[in-house]
Amino acid sequence: MTLRDPRSPSVVVLLADGARPDTLAAAVDAGELPAIASMRREGSSHTITSVFPSVTGPAYTPFLHGRHPGPIGLPALRWFDRARKTRSWPHGARSYVGIGGLSIDDDVAPHADTIFTHSGGNVGSLACFNRGLLPSERLGRSAGFLLSLLGTHLRGDVARWHQIDRELGDEAAHRIARDCTPFAFCAFTGPDKSSHADGHDAPSVRAALRTVDDTVAALRADAERAGRWDRMHLWIVSDHGHSPVHQHEDLAQVVADWGPRVLAHPWVYGRRPDVAVMVSGNAMAHLYVGLADRPRARLGWPALTAKWQWMAERLLDRPSVDLLLLPIDAQGCEIRTRTRGTARVSAANGRYSYHPIDGDPLGIGEQHALDAQDAWDVTSSSDYPDALVQLAALAATPRAGDLVISAARDWDLRSRWEPIPHRSTHGALLREHMLVPLVTNHPIARRPLRTVDVMPSALSALGLPVPDGLDGQSFY
Ligand SMILES: [Zn+2]
Repeated sequence: MTLRDPRSPSVVVLLADGARPDTLAAAVDAGELPAIASMRREGSSHTITSVFPSVTGPAYTPFLHGRHPGPIGLPALRWFDRARKTRSWPHGARSYVGIGGLSIDDDVAPHADTIFTHSGGNVGSLACFNRGLLPSERLGRSAGFLLSLLGTHLRGDVARWHQIDRELGDEAAHRIARDCTPFAFCAFTGPDKSSHADGHDAPSVRAALRTVDDTVAALRADAERAGRWDRMHLWIVSDHGHSPVHQHEDLAQVVADWGPRVLAHPWVYGRRPDVAVMVSGNAMAHLYVGLADRPRARLGWPALTAKWQWMAERLLDRPSVDLLLLPIDAQGCEIRTRTRGTARVSAANGRYSYHPIDGDPLGIGEQHALDAQDAWDVTSSSDYPDALVQLAALAATPRAGDLVISAARDWDLRSRWEPIPHRSTHGALLREHMLVPLVTNHPIARRPLRTVDVMPSALSALGLPVPDGLDGQSFY
């Protein structure tokens, strides 16, 4: 238990997983979320960008590690470890869905600590990342609770996910009031589960958001009673958006039908696979090729051209593929599209460039040596918000696939094995997936751009130094 001066500042981040900014705004406008409506009125409300891949797990690293996911070791929710340095068995296939989620901290670079390490006291609830979080600070950590989470996942039990949100929201509010906790991060998975099942603007999603609103109301009532509301910074965020999916491509089967032995979840035990198809969200995928040669590092393009150009061409023929990304080296990647041509993204010394080769896949025109702010501005109203920074970050990770797909609108890349039927999807670089809300209870000093801005802002709000190497900027 943390005993501290109740006049000290505190930060509470409530993450409404998968909530789109327009879904949240519509529910507030309709009077369904009165506590969040008061926050919006008295504080501020913004639309900011998440990361690519726009999927839970990797998309939590901005909030807790203050970093884009790829460069600290998490290229996606499912990926393949060519180096075979992680603990996975037998082939290096990684998935953080279900029980695999327990090992996500082990795959993050050792030097990447979390805000939990710095804050001086925490509450963490369904945080995905628990480095620096004491067992006593973690809600729902008992073996029985984790088993019930696994059962809820396997059954695709959306109603039970909503109930878990209510239980953990109540417990978090109680703990924060009792202990005057400096930092709290509480994720609510109901909005995402209901969005997958019913669509992003369904009544069930609004019901899940009411649980977040109830938690805001409880936190505010407690803080006002204790005279701490002025010094409590309460923020509502999300990690990714959603969009309707009408067509499911069974990408692993498509590639297998072309001849290679394919490794894909959930069955990752086949002999001597040649290609790993790792889908996340499910609107993005990493493909790792030439595995029979047991590569330990990414070769990059154009070195792969002679042997694998055919696969790039056949993938581009699929209507499910919007952007085909071919990592070249740690500095950049090529973007290919079926009808909008080819371009190259590169980054050096924190500057981002975009060179159309033929056509303009991102629709932003040639760009040269932009800083992170300008790179955000030039893409923010495009179909691919923050594409330059996100593609550069993904190209920089040695764990990225040899071919990376961002799916077309209306499509995802997995047609079987989902406990909850997917009527809505995410994971891609599309704006419906990349744009997320940020609502604050007090006015802020600077316009926030990205979810990576949240951690340095939280440290600033707590009066703590912001360590070097974070990817965002404080909005205080
Ligand atoms: Zn989801």
